[in-house]
Amino acid sequence: MSFLIFFCFSKGAKRYLIFIIRQTMRITIKIGSNVLTRQDGSLDVTRMSALVDQIAELRSQGHEIILVSSGAVASGRSELKHIQHDLDSVDQRQLFSAVGQAKLINRYFELFREYGIPVGQVLTTKENFSDSEHRKNQENCMRVMLENSVLPIVNENDTVSVTELMFTDNDELSGLMAQMTQSQMLIILSNIDGIYTGDPSDPESRLVSIVKPGKDLSDYIQTKKSSAGRGGMQSKSTVATSTAAAGISVIIANGKRDDILLKLMNDRDNTPCTEFLC
Ligand code: GLU
Repeated sequence: MSFLIFFCFSKGAKRYLIFIIRQTMRITIKIGSNVLTRQDGSLDVTRMSALVDQIAELRSQGHEIILVSSGAVASGRSELKHIQHDLDSVDQRQLFSAVGQAKLINRYFELFREYGIPVGQVLTTKENFSDSEHRKNQENCMRVMLENSVLPIVNENDTVSVTELMFTDNDELSGLMAQMTQSQMLIILSNIDGIYTGDPSDPESRLVSIVKPGKDLSDYIQTKKSSAGRGGMQSKSTVATSTAAAGISVIIANGKRDDILLKLMNDRDNTPCTEFLC
């Protein structure tokens, strides 16, 4: 964890030294497919652009960001709507992700360029986190990007990772990436405010704001999954619990809320979310 220090001097005879100390962090941010896609499946460029604005602001405050972004398969599917013939699920995923990832990274590249932020695409597979030689290469890649202020934009390499080689979903990937990069915080953005005590659509359900270490959430978690992405609240909770146990605080929040990242960093007590303490 590092600190930003500002020095201010008055012009008068007396000189005042004012310190404003702000804690800066390395934060892994995961954006789910449902945050980035509209109801019709197309890429929600307005939302994407708003999230880019916030990430740029966090970087200007001194935070280091690693972005794990889903949305490749969903945006490829909407791009290739004209494909009529049936494809099996592996073919679909490979084809849609190949097309969609190009579209996604191109958008990010253009949006971050407006802020002069260089981005780099990191497509990875599960073996890069287990096999020691591959792991070393993955770690080195992340290190060199961060040391050179390049914003890594990470996704699973869906074109080649199939069946048992796949991550459960990008929630799992984001937890592993947060640990590999020694992030201090993992923020998982989905289209729901966090973990509820029951079905989120039930007015009786309450949002769980804080999860202390060791708390069992199994009675609360809904097994229902979102339409665009692979993950669900079950996987988010599992990843959040194991990542928090590794010493990284984890926040699950709604990426469709305006200015969500800035609010989480500046006014968390008044922002709906579920925070897993470590
Ligand atoms: N890697 C997939 C994509 O970019 C998303 C997987 C997930 O939903 O977690 O479309």
